Amino acid sequence: MDGSPNRLAVVGASLAGLRAAETLSQRAPDTEVVVIGAEPHRPYDRPPLSKKLLSGEWEPDRIQLRPADSFDELDVEWRFGIAATRLEPAATGTGGRLHLSDGSHLEAEGIIIATGASPRRLPGQSQFGHVHVLRTLDDAMAVRAAIRAGGQRVVVIGAGFIGLEVAAIAKQLDNQVTVIEGATAPLIRGLGEEMGAAVADVHRARGIDVRCGVQVESLTKTGVQLAGEHLDADLIVVGIGVVPATQWLDDSGLELRDGIVCDETLRAAPGIYAAGDVARWPNPLFDEEMRVEHWTNAAEQGALAANNLLDVAAGETPASYGPVPFFWSDQFDQRIQFLGRSSPDDEVIVAAGSVAEGKLLALYGRGGKLHGAFGLNAPRWVMPMRKQLLSQVSLDDALAFVAALP
Ligand code: NAP
Repeated sequence: MDGSPNRLAVVGASLAGLRAAETLSQRAPDTEVVVIGAEPHRPYDRPPLSKKLLSGEWEPDRIQLRPADSFDELDVEWRFGIAATRLEPAATGTGGRLHLSDGSHLEAEGIIIATGASPRRLPGQSQFGHVHVLRTLDDAMAVRAAIRAGGQRVVVIGAGFIGLEVAAIAKQLDNQVTVIEGATAPLIRGLGEEMGAAVADVHRARGIDVRCGVQVESLTKTGVQLAGEHLDADLIVVGIGVVPATQWLDDSGLELRDGIVCDETLRAAPGIYAAGDVARWPNPLFDEEMRVEHWTNAAEQGALAANNLLDVAAGETPASYGPVPFFWSDQFDQRIQFLGRSSPDDEVIVAAGSVAEGKLLALYGRGGKLHGAFGLNAPRWVMPMRKQLLSQVSLDDALAFVAALP
């Protein structure tokens, strides 16, 4: 690309894709921007799908990422209900050719891939009408219809974010809820074993049967078969993680390894960038290659990928992406927040509060350095830790910092 591109494309019309499209159209008003979105809906916010939308407190119009009038004002061509099926990167120059599910194709000098991820499924799952995943608005409305009247036997498979958030809402709507988790504690990859176990206790104290270290043998017409026990269920929600949506890129020549492998600037190939759940990149702050499946990451990466694409096209230096990862989850009346990273061998120290007090801050240390911070109902303790993580302080200094907090 030399100077101002004629056409740019964004593949994926969720949060990362929207932020990318907004950035491109604002910074390059003379360039055609086309967004390809597989879902039929305008971009909507996913966090409420397993929280207030699921509970019935909010209706779908409340989760639109942009109000209709400001969305219509964006100078972007939206193609909803169409998926990209193949990418041929340009042999010379930048960007490439996208093949689309309606049989057409599109040439673009710059492409941002923000195709997200798809839920993993259990064998045979699709043959049962009472077995659901929860990733899209349509999925969430189907689960909501099934649980809203209460009185159902709900089995949730997987005690990750989806599983625990769905379990909490289903219980609040007076359903009988069992959670089956293969690992020894919930949320183990995000929080580690100790804090994961604290979250399990929150659910058990509110009447949910949380069973960890339990394997599902099979799904049946009437429930779930475990080793030596059948759990009867009216409804099953499978939340066993996601797979980055890269299948359509298999013959693209891009490097794929649990996501699209990018450099520090989110560039995968000349004029091709990735953002959101699908992007794997080396985070210079943590000196670690990572793929992050959370809201803040998708929002930031969408904008950064677009800015970098335009900067490189203009002969300017692109920016590295070195954030402190962040996620939050609302389960019952509890707010879980996590900043940074957690690894199985991290040292975990409760720095303030306790589960019994209903308010807690735990710090995670790795090689003597602060690595992460977990908060249960403690936003005023957790959020200041972002600066500490950015400054790469030692675990001891972080503990001293917490001790001095008001
Ligand atoms: P997840 O957070 O990765 O959790 C999946 C859980 O299921 C893990 O604990 C996993 O254990 C377990 N598991 C895997 N296979 C299993 C099996 N056969 N039987 C029982 N348990 C099994 O994924 P998710 O909850 O499905 O969420 C999907 C995506 O939505 C994620 O990207 C998540 O970040 C996102 N999301 C985020 C939020 C939030 O940030 N608040 C809320 C909702 C959804 P192992 O780790 O041992 O495999």
